[in-house]
This record gives sequence, C-alpha cells and structure tokens, in this order.
Amino acid sequence: MGGAGAGQGETMALAGPHSAKGNTGNRPQRLTVLGATGSIGASTLDLVARSGTAFEVFAVTANANVEALATCARDCGAERAVIGDATLYKALKDALSGTSIVAAAGEEALIEAASVPVDCTIAAIVGAAGLKPALAAVQTGRRLGLANKECLVSAGDVFMQEVARTGCELIPVDSEHSAAFQVLKDAAPESIERIVLTASGGPFRDWPIERIATATRADALNHPNWSMGSKITVDSATMMNKGLELIEALHLFPVATNQLGMLVHPQSIVHCLVSFVDGSVLAQMAEPDMRTPIALALSWPQRMAAPTKRLDLAEISQLTFEAADEVRFPAIRIARAAMERGGTAPAVLNAANEIAVAAFLDGRLRVPDIAVMVEETLGMADREGLLADAVGLEAVIACDHESRRLCRKIVAGRT
Ligand code: NAD
Ligand code: MG
Repeated sequence: MGGAGAGQGETMALAGPHSAKGNTGNRPQRLTVLGATGSIGASTLDLVARSGTAFEVFAVTANANVEALATCARDCGAERAVIGDATLYKALKDALSGTSIVAAAGEEALIEAASVPVDCTIAAIVGAAGLKPALAAVQTGRRLGLANKECLVSAGDVFMQEVARTGCELIPVDSEHSAAFQVLKDAAPESIERIVLTASGGPFRDWPIERIATATRADALNHPNWSMGSKITVDSATMMNKGLELIEALHLFPVATNQLGMLVHPQSIVHCLVSFVDGSVLAQMAEPDMRTPIALALSWPQRMAAPTKRLDLAEISQLTFEAADEVRFPAIRIARAAMERGGTAPAVLNAANEIAVAAFLDGRLRVPDIAVMVEETLGMADREGLLADAVGLEAVIACDHESRRLCRKIVAGRT
C-alpha cells in the first residue's frame, strides 16, 4: 500500500465524539456552502431554512449557474455569493442588485471565500475542482462537512495531513462514511476488523452485461433510490462510486485496504457495517435521504431534527444483501487496484473517471467504455511514470491535469 490511509494502530484524524467546534453556545452557527446549487447544497440549505435562527449563511458558491446561485443566496440571506466562472462576475452582480449580498467570481474568489473562518463549511462541489476550496476551509481549523469525496480520492494524503495539522474537525457527509463515523465513534483502531460499505447496485444491478452495453444516458441517470447530481449518479450506475468510496474510507478511518469491503444492498437502508474483533457487527440505518448525514455534520455531537421519512422496517419488510459483481462492474476492480497501488494512482483514477463520465454524459461513450477509458488511462500513466509515491498538493494537481489530458486523448481516439 503506497502511502494512502492512516494505517492500523494510528489514531483517527476525524472529529472525536465529544468535540463540539460547530456548536459553540447559543448564537447562530455561521455556515459556508461550497457547491450550494447542487443536490447536497440544496439539501443543506433546506435544513438551514427549516432551522429558524440556528444558522446564518456566510457564503454560497456555484460553478456557472448565476440565476440558481442568486436565488439561493437571496433565499438563505447569504452575505457573499461566489461564482466559479470568472467571466460571470457582472451577471452575478446584476442578479444580486438591490440586495446587500457581495458578489465575487473566479477560482481565487472561491478559495478566498472558503478561507474565511466560519463554524462549519459544507464541501459539496463535485469533482477535484472542489479540492482547493475544501483545503482552504480545512486550513481555517474549523469544522468541515465533506461530501466532495473526489478531494480524498485524489489528494487524500495531503488532505488528511492538513486536517491533522490544523485541527480541522472533519465530518464525513457521504452516507456510508457518516454511518461508519457514527458507528466507530471513539473505537480503538485495533478493535476494528472490517468496514463494509453498502451499495444500492444502481439502475443496472440486475442487468445482464450485454444489456448494460446498450444503456442510454437516461437509463444511467435513473437511480433507483437516491436523487443526486449527474456525475455521482453515473458513478453509481458503473459502481465506480463504491470504488471511490473505498478510497475515501481508507483515508477517513484507521484501517488498511484489506479491511475494506462492499456489499450490494438494494434497499439502501443499512449504510455501512463495521465488524469488531469480538465478532460484533454494528450498522447504521436510515431512509436514503442525504439530509440525515448532512444534519449530523451540522449538529454533531448533538443531533438536529431532519424532516426525512421515518424508517418503517415492517413496511420495508426485507433487507437483502449480495456480493458485488466485478465482471459486470469492472470499475470496482479498477478502483481497488488503484487504492492498493496508492500514491498518485487514485488521483489518475479520479481524473480519468471525471473525463470519461463527462464524455458519457455528452453522448460520446457507452456505459462500459467508462471503465475501459479509466483503465487505459491508468496504464498509460504508468508507462509515462506518472504513478509516483505520495507527493505534495502541487504534484497531485499536476498529475490530475496530465491524467485528464491522457484520458481526453484516449476518448478522442475511441470516438
Ligand atoms: P451536483 O452536480 O448536484 O452539484 C455540484 C455543485 O458543485 C454545484 O453547486 C455546482 O455549481 C458546483 N460545481 C461544479 N463544478 C464546479 C467547479 N468546477 N467549480 C466550482 N463549483 C463547481 O453534485 P452533488 O450530487 O450535490 O454532489 C456534490 C458532491 O457530493 C460530489 O462530490 C458527490 O460525489 C458528493 N456526494 C453527493 C451525494 C448526493 O446525494 N448528491 C451523496 C454523497 C456524496
Ligand atoms: Mg455514498
């Protein structure tokens, strides 16, 4: 294992069960929501809106949708709205006219907004584009609710080093990792035997391999249980999402690669199972609604109300589990190999996957091509000496950019 993960025997870098950085007294908690116009961003702001005066929003950010950003900034009464696309500054300023909300634009403005200390930042940008803003939030040493798993896949070593250095209170928002966080609490690392993430199996769970090859964009975006942004929905359809989540878990929890597993659980009720050395298995259950893990990140170690459907096991009646099929879903095998290789391999995996998913969404690839493009990019990166050991942030970002270039070339040669 090359450099990834805390490794058995080390302490967890995550927030402990009694930490309370996000809950200091009775004043409103100040929040920044990175990626506020997306699925996680909207769920976060829904909880905020329902919580009366418990929260006040400092900054909301988005990539390019000025209207959606202006609306959400007005609705939540944000002090600042930041659009990633620098050319949209004037459009955002116009859309916010008549309000006191400060407009800003460009990548540097995103990073600057994220670096203003608030009680809690929710990192909900999609993709490695969210890495620098999320790291800026880490560097404030406050609380970070992390949905943006690609940060940890791409730059997990650097990210977790910064979390440890700054004392940032990192609370996972990804549902499986929120589940593991709750189950593990202050468990001694040597008491943990195995962490098993569950997967719904996505829309193609029971499709034969030949049929998956004919799947359309609409088929891939038709997730059975979760309503999410398009990139993660495609990742769920290929099951690359679970591969990315294994790597995410390796960085978040004190386990080695061979202690991480996955199980297909079509009902998406049990989110993660942790086995301990005494044979006990603890799991967390909830209806599949991201407002539950987001609420946990906002309120831990307390719990705030979330208006989700309550779990009724009699109504659900059956919880089923099956092994993941790595033949129909080769992304799992490819991601696991990148995790085991460590170093920059997960950064290459993530970058290539982002390019391949975008090409699929543009109609240039079929579903099975996504894993093929990612595997070919990893192979080419290996031949070009890109798969280095653990490195610093700038080297990871350079590797990410080079991997995107390689993957674009491979995709172009294919289409
Ligand atoms: P989404 O596509 O709905 O929203 C993404 C947000 O990021 C939007 O606000 C968009 O404007 C912003 N954004 C996109 N590209 C950007 C860029 N280059 N620069 C700045 N901002 C940019 O995505 P989502 O489903 O909300 O997912 C967000 C993150 O949370 C992803 O990393 C995803 O894997 C993770 N996550 C999501 C869910 C879910 O249920 N949606 C569950 C677990 C984890
Ligand atoms: Mg998840």
